[in-house]
Amino acid sequence: MTPPVDAPPAPRAMRNHVGGAWETPGAREELVTRNPATGEELARVPLSSAADVERAVAAARAAQPAWGETPILVRARALMDLRTALNEHRDELARIVATDMGKTVPDAAAEVGRGIESVEAAIAAPHLLKGQVLEGVSRGIDVEMVHQPVGVVGVITPFNFPAMLPLWFIPFALACGNAVVLKPSEQDPLAPERIVEIIDGIDSIPSGLVNLVHGAHDAVNALLDSKGIDAISFVGSAATAQYVAERSIATGKRVQALGGAKNSMIVAPDANRDLMVSGVLSSAFGGAGQRCLAGSVAVLVGTAEEQDAALDAIVSAARALKVGGGLDETTDVCPVVSPQARERLEAEIARATGEGANLVLDGRGDGGAGGCEIGPTVLDLADGESQAAREELFGPVLSVVRVPDLDAAIDWSNGSRYGNSAILFTESGGAAQRFRQRIEAGMLGVNIGVAAPVAWFPFAGWKDSMVGDLHSNGDDAFTFYTRRKVVTSRWA
Ligand code: NAD
Repeated sequence: MTPPVDAPPAPRAMRNHVGGAWETPGAREELVTRNPATGEELARVPLSSAADVERAVAAARAAQPAWGETPILVRARALMDLRTALNEHRDELARIVATDMGKTVPDAAAEVGRGIESVEAAIAAPHLLKGQVLEGVSRGIDVEMVHQPVGVVGVITPFNFPAMLPLWFIPFALACGNAVVLKPSEQDPLAPERIVEIIDGIDSIPSGLVNLVHGAHDAVNALLDSKGIDAISFVGSAATAQYVAERSIATGKRVQALGGAKNSMIVAPDANRDLMVSGVLSSAFGGAGQRCLAGSVAVLVGTAEEQDAALDAIVSAARALKVGGGLDETTDVCPVVSPQARERLEAEIARATGEGANLVLDGRGDGGAGGCEIGPTVLDLADGESQAAREELFGPVLSVVRVPDLDAAIDWSNGSRYGNSAILFTESGGAAQRFRQRIEAGMLGVNIGVAAPVAWFPFAGWKDSMVGDLHSNGDDAFTFYTRRKVVTSRWA
């Protein structure tokens, strides 16, 4: 039957990429993803089975040895080609992310830019993979240390940065001579698949090195259990990170598992008001608060009058933010990823008010066309140990706690089980120094709302925000994706 002329396009069937070929896995089950702004069906995501995953792992294993022996300068140049190709598709990728995940186009473009930055950092491999030599440790005996590829890397990513997060890992893994099997989030698979298509089109990156399997928990478990996987790079919620790390270690893999967050934004009474308000708003409500670096608690320091003045400034600016679809240029606050996410947030807001929080700004509404919109919400908490104070809500919901001074703010923040990021707004260098010294978190911002380190630095948090020792990006990536070998030699 011919479809009606104005029928929306059928959702796209997602495909796995195995050994250089695109294929529809034999999975019987699939999920349908939707545009959060409109509710339009976008993709049918196959839930790959353990057998599908194992074939991708076998393809990666077959491709890796030759790549590992490819001269490192050639590998670095292949990454230069990847950088060129991604730059050519920058705008296209940003629009895909905005449509599929929901964030605004400028936010999506920034995400793609950050992903490309990781490629640029990985191009430094010939410099950073230089080993060490110690001559004459004993008479006629020298010691050398070299870095070799770890093998095949499983990369498992969440929904909130569907383009950037695969690119946090794939370039560094390839630079170090490894092959990859990527399992992206099942909630927004379009950008990861497009990135793998772009990689597939680059002649200098051999077929089979970057494999893609779509799916959900079964696919993750198959990767974690596979004997053909040597290392796991994971990003997602804290509970999943803990689970992934434990199961990876039990099966003998090295693992870096980046988890969730509850980031404090400490507002000192001397903070520059404009810097503070714009920083708090971009951090709490940008990307609808669906960022691991989102500042989700404002810790207001000072007297009750000083706290009230800071809160008033935040709330009146937040009230003016426009909620809407990511492709609408006038949107400030995008929808959350799914109607289920909005319902969960609304339940959390109700729970907080039930626990005595003052709902200073209520963003709840009808959810818009896609059922995913929720406006900026501010909860002035009665209980600094409640769920809204201590747990990640992952939406445009800012909790407020009040403390008398900077030390109390740092102590309160350090009471969190998370330690991803922390922000201080102040005009005092001494306060900033004390904050840097005492705060228990991996990524700090001073008068910056979203303190995302550039790709030449390690990116990760402390405590439950990270399981494993080596962070993503920066020098840590080169250490994570290589094994060291030490040679002690004597020549007659
Ligand atoms: P999630 O943990 O639900 O999913 C992440 C990945 O794990 C997905 O690929 C998913 O398919 C898989 N997964 C989920 N539950 C699983 C299970 N029980 N068994 C096996 N696999 C499972 O995370 P999400 O909701 O997609 O992403 C949001 C979370 O990611 C937030 O907590 C956010 O803070 C965190 N995050 C952290 C960082 C960081 O750098 N620390 C960066 C981005 C996002």
